[in-house]
Amino acid sequence: MRIVIKIGSNVLTRPDGKLDVTRMSALVDQVAWLRQQGHEVVLVSSGAVACGRNELKVEHALDSVEQRQLFSALGQVKLIGLYYDLFREFGIHVGQVLTMKENFEPGEQFENQRACMRVMLENGVLPIVNENDTVSVTELMFTDNDELSGLIAQMVEADTLILLSNIDGIYTGHPDEPQSELIRSVAPGTDLSTYIQTSKSAHGRGGMKSKYTTASQVQAAGIRVIIANGERENILIDLIRHPETTPHTTFITA
Ligand code: GLU
Repeated sequence: MRIVIKIGSNVLTRPDGKLDVTRMSALVDQVAWLRQQGHEVVLVSSGAVACGRNELKVEHALDSVEQRQLFSALGQVKLIGLYYDLFREFGIHVGQVLTMKENFEPGEQFENQRACMRVMLENGVLPIVNENDTVSVTELMFTDNDELSGLIAQMVEADTLILLSNIDGIYTGHPDEPQSELIRSVAPGTDLSTYIQTSKSAHGRGGMKSKYTTASQVQAAGIRVIIANGERENILIDLIRHPETTPHTTFITA
């Protein structure tokens, strides 16, 4: 299987905003396991801005674009450096792909981006993708990395897209309410919009709404999408080995 895994900022950051290296390391172990099982993996990792925010005390107030540019520049280096070190323990080569929405318009840039993904995968290199936040123009950005990961999954013709956030999946009500139930399986064409909470988590740009939008589009393209909780221990391995006892929402394909 070719699997695209999106790791959200909230999965990688502690409540105080610092990078959660323990969790990152556990996820890397699981990705290494997936590769040992013969799966091809592409990671879409957020966390650059969250990672960079804690690196520097800024003297003067920065506007939102300056903050994004400065913190993503600082944070992306740290993020990819850590991935490099962690994956090297398994002898896995990682490659950094920083991209922008323009690269997904049909035409030469799309072909170029796809060729880049292909040559990395053919050579066993694990692509770690993020938006090029330093130079992206605000109006032209991806809504968030959920959207980006959906486009990547379609570009590489993945079998499965796994969206890891800090919630088990889509519920029939507010996740904190006891009567709410986790929706395990979503058939193509099902409209779940009444169940989607619009609140967002602390560190990322996305939320359940954008996960749902991405999941529906990617499902319509014939790719299975799984929304699961990246804060659960062994989540990636459990999703493959014990899907029936592992909480998640799957958008199944026909
Ligand atoms: N590209 C942003 C980052 O790495 C994350 C965007 C998102 O939260 O989806 O910080």
